[in-house]
Amino acid sequence: MARLAARARRVRPAADAIVVGGGPAGALAALTLARRGVGTLVLDTKRFPRDKPCGGGIRYGVYRRFPELAGYLREAVAVHEIRRVRMESPSGASVLAESDGPLYLTLRRTELDAALVARARAAGAEVVERARVVEVERRAEGVTVRTVDGRAFAARLVIGADGVNSVVVRAAGLSDGFPEAALALDTMEETALDELSVADPETMYVAYGYKGWPGYGYVFPKRHHVDAGVGVLLPFFKRTLGGAPAEHHRRFLEEAAAKGVVRGRPNPDNFKAYRLPLGGPLARTVADRTLVCGDAGGFVNAYTGEGIYYAMVTGEHAGEAAADALGRGDCSAAGLASYEARWRREIGAELAGSLRIQRRLFARPWLADAVIRAAAGDPKLCRLFARVALGEDDLRARRLEIAARMLLAALRGRIGFAALVRR
Ligand SMILES: Cc1cc2nc3c(=O)[nH]c(=O)nc-3n(C[C@H](O)[C@H](O)[C@H](O)COP(=O)(O)OP(=O)(O)OC[C@H]3O[C@@H](n4cnc5c(N)ncnc54)[C@H](O)[C@@H]3O)c2cc1C
Repeated sequence: MARLAARARRVRPAADAIVVGGGPAGALAALTLARRGVGTLVLDTKRFPRDKPCGGGIRYGVYRRFPELAGYLREAVAVHEIRRVRMESPSGASVLAESDGPLYLTLRRTELDAALVARARAAGAEVVERARVVEVERRAEGVTVRTVDGRAFAARLVIGADGVNSVVVRAAGLSDGFPEAALALDTMEETALDELSVADPETMYVAYGYKGWPGYGYVFPKRHHVDAGVGVLLPFFKRTLGGAPAEHHRRFLEEAAAKGVVRGRPNPDNFKAYRLPLGGPLARTVADRTLVCGDAGGFVNAYTGEGIYYAMVTGEHAGEAAADALGRGDCSAAGLASYEARWRREIGAELAGSLRIQRRLFARPWLADAVIRAAAGDPKLCRLFARVALGEDDLRARRLEIAARMLLAALRGRIGFAALVRR
C-alpha cells in the first residue's frame, strides 16, 4: 500500500508528448513525432502483440498514402490482396465490383498493430505496455497522465489514440463519450482456413442492409484465416433486434454457408463483439495540450465501418500538428488547430459523405436494393460506387452522374421509378 502511494507521488521526468493507445492511430502519431525528433512516450493498457476486434480490411490505397510503410508492411505482416467485392442487397440481389488491380488488403490486427508499434519504437518512441490510463490532468504548463496502478507521466501535450472508450477525450472535455445513436455493435471471428474457408479467396462479401437491418454482414478472406461478422447500429440492436450478438453472428454465417460464400464451421471460441463509432468525427478534436485521433475522435467511415485507414491518417496529422506546436512553444487549442484543418482537408468531405450515405441507406433497405440492382446492370455505376467507397471519388461531385445512371436503370426496368422519388 505504502509502495503504491509512493509510486503515485512519483512523476516521471517529462516527455515532450504522450500518446495514449498504440493502435494504428497511436502508432502513426508516435512514429511521426519520433521522426520529427520529439521525445515521445506511448502508453497502452495491453502488451503487444495484442488482438483488436476487427475485420482487418483496409483499402489498397493505404500503400499510396503511406509509401514509406508499404514495403515494411508487406514484409512484416501476412497481407492478402482482394480483387473483387461482392455486394448483396437485402432482397438478395448482388453485384461484383472488380478492377484490374487489388481493391483491398486484409490482414490480422495482431500482426499489423505489433508491426506499427515496432516501427514507432525503431524511430525512437518509448512504448510502455500494461499501462492503463485512468486520468489526464491538464495544467497551464503541461499534462500529467496517471495509470491505474498509480504511475504518473508528465509531458507538454497528450494525444488521445485510446479508441472508442477514450479516457483522453473525456478528460479534455471534448465529449462525455459517444452517444448510443453514434455507435454500432460489430461482431467478428477470425478463424483459420482449415476450419472455415471461402469459395473465392480474392473476393470479399458484404451484405449491405443485411436482413433489412441498419448495418451489414461481411466475410473477409485473409492469407491464412477468414474474418466475418455483422454490424448494426446500437439503438436498433438494443430496441428492435435484441438477443445475443453471438446468435446473430452464428445465423449470418449459417446463411453465408448456405449461399456458398463460406465452407466449414464457425468457431465460437474466436467470437468477439465490440463497439464502433459510426456517427462521424467529434465536433472538436483539439483542446489545450490535447489532440484526439482514430476511433477516439470518431474517425470511421459511417457505412463501411472502415476505421484503420482513417486512424493512420489522423494519427499522422496529429503527430505533425503536435510537433509543429511543440516547436513553436504553443500547445493551446489555437496552437493545435492546424490538426483540424489538416484532417478536414484530406478526409473531411469523405467522412461527411459516408454519414449521408449511411443515413439514407441504413434507414431505407429498398434504396440499398435499388442501388445494387442498378449497379449490377451498369458496370460504370458499379465502378463509381466502388471508387466512392474506396475514397477515390467524391460522392457530391458525382451525384448528377449517379442520378442519371439510376434513371437509366429505371428506364431499362432494372429498378422501379419509385426508388428515384421515394424519400
Ligand atoms: C468487429 C469490428 C470489425 C471492424 N472491421 C474493420 C475493418 O475490416 N476495417 C477497418 O478499417 N476497420 C474496421 N473496424 C474498425 C477498426 O477496428 C477501428 O476503427 C480501428 O481499430 C481504430 O484504430 P485506433 O488506433 O483508433 O483504436 P484501437 O485500434 O482501438 O486502439 C486503441 C489502443 O488504445 C489502447 N487503450 C484503450 N484504452 C486505453 C487506456 N485507458 N489506457 C491505455 N491504453 C488504452 C488499446 O489497448 C488499443 O491498443 C472494425 C471494428 C470492429 C469493432
